[in-house]
Amino acid sequence: MQTIALIAHDKKKDEMLDFVGHHLTELKKFNLVATHTTGTLINEKYHLNVDTKMSGPLGGDQQIGALVATEQVNYVIFLRDPLTSQPHEPDINALLRLCDVHNIPLATNRRSAHILIQYAASKTQAEA
Ligand code: PGA
Repeated sequence: MQTIALIAHDKKKDEMLDFVGHHLTELKKFNLVATHTTGTLINEKYHLNVDTKMSGPLGGDQQIGALVATEQVNYVIFLRDPLTSQPHEPDINALLRLCDVHNIPLATNRRSAHILIQYAASKTQAEA
């Protein structure tokens, strides 16, 4: 099974929950990993068994980055808040950079996330 990482900044958490709710069928075809708060909210609402790492500001983005670097993550959906400065900006940039280094598809807003999940789910179907 392929793995998708899910991360949402605080002002994007509702949007992430809405996104997950709209794509439950597709997301169930993947292992899911997330930063702590994002993953906990998804698990509470949808019981999806998301593997949660640390919270982003405490190192969670770096943990996801390590999974990207070791090619244990196939796709990243990162709903970033572009209007609020983040204390862990260097960690965020590092994660985005690693996605580019390893050619891992990365969606940073909801519409690109929608395109990504449709594509990823269709590929799993083609392989099945
Ligand atoms: P969180 O981390 O899911 O623990 O809130 C995400 C972030 O803010 O980077």
